[in-house]
Formats: sequence, C-alpha cells, structure tokens
Amino acid sequence: MVSVVERVLYSGRTKYQEVDVAVNDDYGKMLVLDGKLQSSTSDEFIYHEMLVHPALITHGNPRDVLIIGGGEGATLREVLRYRSVRSATMVDIDGEVVEVCEKYLPEMHQGSFRDPRTRLVIGDGREYLRRTDERFDAIIVDATDPIEGGPSRLLYTLEFYELARSRLREGGILSTQGTSTFYNARTFATIVNTMSRVFPHVRGYQASIPSYISDWGFVVGSLGRDPASVTPEEAEARARELGLPELNYYEPAHHPHYFWLPPRVRRILAEERGISRDEEPVSVY
Ligand code: SAM
Repeated sequence: MVSVVERVLYSGRTKYQEVDVAVNDDYGKMLVLDGKLQSSTSDEFIYHEMLVHPALITHGNPRDVLIIGGGEGATLREVLRYRSVRSATMVDIDGEVVEVCEKYLPEMHQGSFRDPRTRLVIGDGREYLRRTDERFDAIIVDATDPIEGGPSRLLYTLEFYELARSRLREGGILSTQGTSTFYNARTFATIVNTMSRVFPHVRGYQASIPSYISDWGFVVGSLGRDPASVTPEEAEARARELGLPELNYYEPAHHPHYFWLPPRVRRILAEERGISRDEEPVSVY
C-alpha cells in the first residue's frame, strides 16, 4: 500500500507543468508532473531499462541516439551504457524540470548530463526533429502521457512517427512509453496501431512497475529486425559486444519473452482500430 507523501523537497510551476519532488517511505523520491507520478527512485530502473534495452539490443549497433523528453536523465543513463554510443541527444521541452531533476534526483541521472557524449537541448522534441538534418540509429520517446492540453500530445501521432522515421538511418528503431496497459489499454493499442502504419515491425510489451500501481506499456517500431525475432543467444552476444553490464531488470537471455502480452491486452489490441492523428491525437482517459 503506497503511504502518503512524507516530505516535499521541491514544488513549483514551470511554463509547461506543475513540478513536485516528493518523498515517501514506500517509493523513495518521486518526480511528479501535473500531479502524475513520472518516476520514483525505488523502481525507476524497471521503466528506464525496459524503455531502452529491448530497442537498442534489437538494433545491435546504436551510435547516435535521440531521446525526446527524459527529464530525469535516467533514460540518458541507460543509453550511455553502450560503448557503441558516440552521441546521446536529449531534447526536453522544460529546462526547469531538467534543472530540478539534476539537483534533487542524482540517483536517477547518476551524472549522465555531464557525460561528454551527452548533448542536452531544451525545446519541443517534435520541432527539433522537424528542423534537424541529423540522422539517428534510435529515437526514444520518454515523454509524459498524452493528455488534453499537455506538452506531449503530438508525440504519439501518425505524423510524428512519419517524421521520426524520416530521421532514422537504415535499420533504425524507435521506442516509446505507451501508457498503462491496465488503465489505458485502448490508448496503448492505438499507439501500436499508429506505429504499425509507419514501421514494418512493431511490438507492444509491458512491465509491472510497483510505484505506478500498474503494468506499463512500451511500443517499439523497427526498420530493421523484428524485436521479438532476436534470440536469447543473439541478445546475449550483442550485450557482450556492446559492453552492457548486468542490469537490474532487463536481461538479454529473456529478450524475446518480453514481447508477451496477457490475453486481455491482446484482445484489446485485436479490437481497437483507432489511429492517432494530429487533428485527433490519442490521449489517456
Ligand atoms: N517516465 C515518465 C512517464 O512514463 O510518463 C516520463 C518521464 S519524463 C519526466 C517526461 C518528460 O517529457 C518531461 O521532462 C517533460 O518536460 C517532457 N516533455 C513533454 N512534452 C515534451 C515535448 N513536446 N518535447 C520534449 N519533451 C517533452
């Protein structure tokens, strides 16, 4: 049972969102944006490892990676574990959130903002993609849930994925957080449907995250291999070649098995026909 907030370390409002850093004895320090828990020090490794490693192990040789969102710096931390990565560009719309995370959540970024390969850009991730002439091996969307009037609404649409695909190199891959497969399974299914219009291989998957009190969805779209086709042996060999240490949740030997979904979610995936478009973006309900 989650106890209530014991202490508030920071509370403020930026140009884009309410920002709180709170502490409770169940989950440690928590980043909360617009009243929605983003991550907590007790179990953020599950979310950030599962957002990053199925995609980068599938890719097999990520050199230039773009992260959209990722305020805490934990997605950045996981990307920088790869010895093949020569640049990790993190574009977050809210510089104040990044500053708060750098100050109050060192357990999450672990100095990743200071890594010589890191390029931190403050701005809208979609606008950055539109204007850049760079190409990436992987794009990781670690943004807030799509909510009415929220800053990440247009990061989960057909037009966004088409733009992202145009900025990926041959064999490139995109992974995104896909909202809760328990509370928002139709949103998750719509994201899978929408990405399936753009990428030849799309896999939705989930992981249970205690502090979210929910299974959490992720969606990966690949221009190269089908993520679920990478065998345990291949994943282990790639992890060794790429210098990946033993982690806390993602395990290469289990790689293809992560793409299992429970029957309820599979049924909703089969029933949901919606596509998220700019004029009617998907949102969490
Ligand atoms: N782990 C969280 C989750 O599962 O919802 C997301 C973590 S992170 C705190 C979300 C980040 O997305 C925030 O730092 C926010 O500023 C950023 N963000 C939201 N909309 C964005 C946009 N359009 N471009 C870039 N960053 C954005």
